[in-house]
Order: sequence, then C-alpha cells, then structure tokens
Amino acid sequence: MDGCRSNSSSASRNSRSRSDAQKMKYVCVTGGVVSGLGKGITISSIGRLLKQSGLRVTSIKIDPYLNTDAGTMSPFEHGEVFVLDDGGEVDLDLGNYERFLSLTLGKDHNITTGKVYNEVILRERRGDYLGKTVQVVPHVTNEIQDWIERVAVLPVDGSQEAPEICLVEVGGTVGDIESSVFLEALRQFQFRVGRENFCLIFVSLVPVLGSVGEQKTKPTQHGVKELRSVGLSPDVIICRSSNRVELSTREKISVFCHCPPSHVLSVHDVSNIYHVPIILAEQNLHGILRDHLKLERIMTPEPDLVRWTELATSVDIFEEQVKIAIVGKYTGLSDSYLSVLKALKHASIAAKRALEICWVEASDLESETQKTEEEKHAAAWKVIEEVDGIVVPGGFGSRGVEGKVLTVEYARRTGRPILGVCLGMQVMVIEHCRNVLGLRTATSQEFAEQGKEQAEGAKEGDREEETYAVVFMPEINPAVMGGTMRLGARPTDVLLRDRQQKPTLAGQLYKQRDEVWERHRHRYEVNPELLGRLEEAGLRFVGKDKTGARMEIVELDREKHPFFLGTQYHPEFQSRPLEPSPPFLGLILAASGQLREYLRANGAN
Ligand code: GLN
Repeated sequence: MDGCRSNSSSASRNSRSRSDAQKMKYVCVTGGVVSGLGKGITISSIGRLLKQSGLRVTSIKIDPYLNTDAGTMSPFEHGEVFVLDDGGEVDLDLGNYERFLSLTLGKDHNITTGKVYNEVILRERRGDYLGKTVQVVPHVTNEIQDWIERVAVLPVDGSQEAPEICLVEVGGTVGDIESSVFLEALRQFQFRVGRENFCLIFVSLVPVLGSVGEQKTKPTQHGVKELRSVGLSPDVIICRSSNRVELSTREKISVFCHCPPSHVLSVHDVSNIYHVPIILAEQNLHGILRDHLKLERIMTPEPDLVRWTELATSVDIFEEQVKIAIVGKYTGLSDSYLSVLKALKHASIAAKRALEICWVEASDLESETQKTEEEKHAAAWKVIEEVDGIVVPGGFGSRGVEGKVLTVEYARRTGRPILGVCLGMQVMVIEHCRNVLGLRTATSQEFAEQGKEQAEGAKEGDREEETYAVVFMPEINPAVMGGTMRLGARPTDVLLRDRQQKPTLAGQLYKQRDEVWERHRHRYEVNPELLGRLEEAGLRFVGKDKTGARMEIVELDREKHPFFLGTQYHPEFQSRPLEPSPPFLGLILAASGQLREYLRANGAN
C-alpha cells in the first residue's frame, strides 16, 4: 500500500522546507475494561489512516511484563512469538503493525518492564546515577520516556527518513498494577514533549445487553475514571462494540468522560479488518488528530483510501473457496499461528478466493500411539482428506511430530499441495528418509535428545540406533550468552534451474530472484551427510545459505507433485496484505488450481 500515497501528499511534502522540521508527534493508546478488544488492529488502523494522509508513521508496543522478550513465552499463553529482521522475538502486535503499516521494526520497538529495569540496573552498576538512590520515579519513568524518544525517530519504512508520527500502544488494561509505571511515564511525557505533540486515545468496550440491545456505557466511564485518577485524560475515546455505537451512547460517554462528543468514535464489528481505517476516516479521526497535533502543514486534507477500500470490499465478495488445513500443536488457539493465518489470508486475496481454515491437532492423526480416541482420529483424517491444501507450520518439541510425518506422507503420495515451514520442512525431510530412503528410524536430533531425557535410566541397547535426518546446527550469538538460535533475517541463495536446466518451483515463485532474505527461528537443520541420497531420491534442495551448508528450501519436481515445498525459514513473517509471501501464494494457487496458469503468465516454461 506504500504506493498509495496520493499526488497531493507528495506535493505537500515537496513544498515543505527543511526548516519546517516538525517535532515528533505521539499518539498514545491505552485500553480499558477488558483485554482482547482488538486494540492492536484499532491502532494499526489509526496508523494506516495517517499514512494514507501522507505521514511517515512508526509504532512502539509496550508490554508491561517482566520478560525481556517474548522468546521464552509459550504460544499457549501469549500467542505466537513474532520474529523481526534484527532477530527480535517480540509480541505478535508488532506483526500487526508491520503488516498493516508496511514497516520493518526492530527489537527496541517492543518495550517490556524487564527491558527497562534491565537498562536501569545496568546503568546503576556502571555508576551512571552518581551515587543517587535509584527509584521508580524518576529513574525508571525517565528511562521509559528516553526509550520512546530514542526509538521513535528510527527510520522504519525503508526511506531512511525519520518518522513524523509515533504510535505508542500500552498493553494490558488501565488499572493493572503492571502498567501503572508506564502510565506515570506517559503522564510526565505529555509535558516533556508538549500537549500539542501528544494525543491520548482510550480504547474501550461498549457491551450490548438485554433483548432491546442496550449499549452500556458504564465500563467505559469506569475505565476513563481509572485513567483520570493517574492524571491522564483521553483526547479521543474509541468504543469497540458489536454494533455501531449510537449518537446518544456517544453523547453520554462524552458527558461522563470529559471528552467532546465528536471525539467519541465507534469501531464496531466489521466483515474484515481492512474496513477499520475506513470507518475511522468516516468519523473524521484524521481531522481530529490534524487539529490536535497541528499537522495541517504536512497532512493531506483527506486520506487516500481508494486502494484500501478496494481491498476491504474485494475480500467480502470472493465466492469460490479454498480450504486449507493447518496441522499443528496449538490449534486450539489461532493466535499461536497468527502470521501463518495472515500469510494464507494475503495469498487468498491475491488468488481471489475465500479462505477456510481447518485446524488439525497433529497428535489426533497418530494411530500407533493410542493417545487419541477413535472418533477424534477419524475426524482429523477426514479433514486432511477433504482440504485443498495443507500447511505444516513451525514448532518445538516432539509432541505431534509423528502426526505431521503421516500428514506429509499422505500429501506426498496423493499429490495434495503442501507447504512445510521450519519444523514442517524438517518433517518433510524425515518423512523422505523413512519412506523413500528406507531409513525407518530417521528423526531429528531435537526429539532424540528429548527422548533420551525421558528414557533416562532405561538400559543401554533398549533403544534402536537412530538416524538423524535433522541435526543440531547452532548459530552462535556473541551478544547473548548461550544464544544458539538462528534468528532474524538471513540471505538464501535460490537455485533457479535444476540439473536438467528445468526452472525450479522456488525460483519461479520468487520470480527469478536468486537471493532472498527471509526470517529464521530455529536451531536444527537438515543433516548435510544425507543430502546426496535425498537428492538422488528426488528431494531437491533449491535454497541454501551462503556457506552452502544449511538447507533453506526443499521441493519436489512439479512433474512428480503439483506443490510440495518446504522452507527452513518462516516466510509468513514478511507477508503483507497486498504483497503475499511467495511460498504461501504458491500453496494457495496450487490448492485452487491456478498455479500452472500463474507460472505460465509469469514467464515459466
Ligand atoms: N524446533 C525446530 C528447530 O529448532 C524448528 C523450529 C521452528 O519450527 N521454528 O530447529
């Protein structure tokens, strides 16, 4: 959507002289009442609206927990760990920002309590505080403000220019003990940067109760009261609700919450998230922010939402469906695979198909283990048999791996389009070793090591000698003691033609680019010792790192299988609504019978 910037916006930008240099403008957003309001989407939409009004936007997410990053947090509890170019393992909301606002953020754009305290303690040890007693106020609160100011100016849209607007989301809900230090920092911050450079938005819930569907304002009133008790007053209140929030409701909120009625906006449920910037524009949020933050000189009079509106409406009208199974181990919680879901969604938009996701718990597919009940087992296989395509996503640990191996075997034998990501690709290699090379005990060193721990005490010789199809190949991180994970963006050399000079699937999907940068998060890799035999058996390694030792992309010849592709990296992290990730696009096109035509149209022979 970057190309959407209107002519009038560039005209206004060109007419701006250097001396016009604006102060950074901050739009801070807090939420009240309950979590899970869709605060991230609301904030991303505010950013998109400002971006379409010609402004350079960045964003910072504050997470009031003590972990220094999201890397060690369970996807069960916290949703997926999002990975950034610089290797930052961060909250999934940063993924929303990157996707919605076409940004490339860094690890410092995610502030946590742990990170801030870590910094303060390091400073104290270095003697930076000159013998003073180090306290939450002012030392921690100053550190938070310094951090925001330092990170806000970092270029994030590929332009090398500092942003003009910084969105700051405070995670959690107002009133939590955890977030109070951040709210205090923001209270001070409004004076540090000046009121005309600071706008506070409160996102709240307006529940609808009773048979007449009364919109209740009390939770919002209490949320704002809580906010005002810490010295912050909202400039704008955004009400999340199932239906459009009526004028009378908004007027009531206005009276009780010390905010003009025109600044109380409705973000009601819509058919897809791309409508949210549009409904905010309809309620003149851009005008409110322009006046409050004195942005008239650098903002276009109206946002250019033409392509965005096309996107939002097109998503609603696809008639033909594409059904994709995600075979994972956290399938009860879709947030655990959020970026995979988004990448599938973006690819389906490009393929003009309505996406239906079928979640399959990998362990339900296992038969030998007797772990699952008959019914669940049968139901899981019925789904696999009925879908148009399959994704085996990334993961850690051995639970469900046998189910994934069976899925890959089924897809390989039946010609069902399948994409394996990270662990998914490793499973593709394990399956080939077992069922094509006949190495029945093939596994990953990761599971074998886990197994050894569990079987501690078992007699020597009880276990069959295993073949490691996937081995531990750490990448030492000198910055982190003990850091062995290969993390962040790395280059992959893509083989464009195979030995017979036929174009490779990966080369075609990446449009003949022979080097691609994608994001990684893993410790294990395909065992280099088995490469020759696997290649001989037809599995092609068509993407490698610069040393040639790490296998990055694996595929089967399209004459053997319509779409069988695995990537050691996670292509989902760089997918964008209008720029789908090539491997995901390939899967959806293959699953909807359009891949051959697409490849032909893109110059493949
Ligand atoms: N557990 C595997 C590894 O560490 C795969 C990781 C992943 O899928 N992200 O290599």
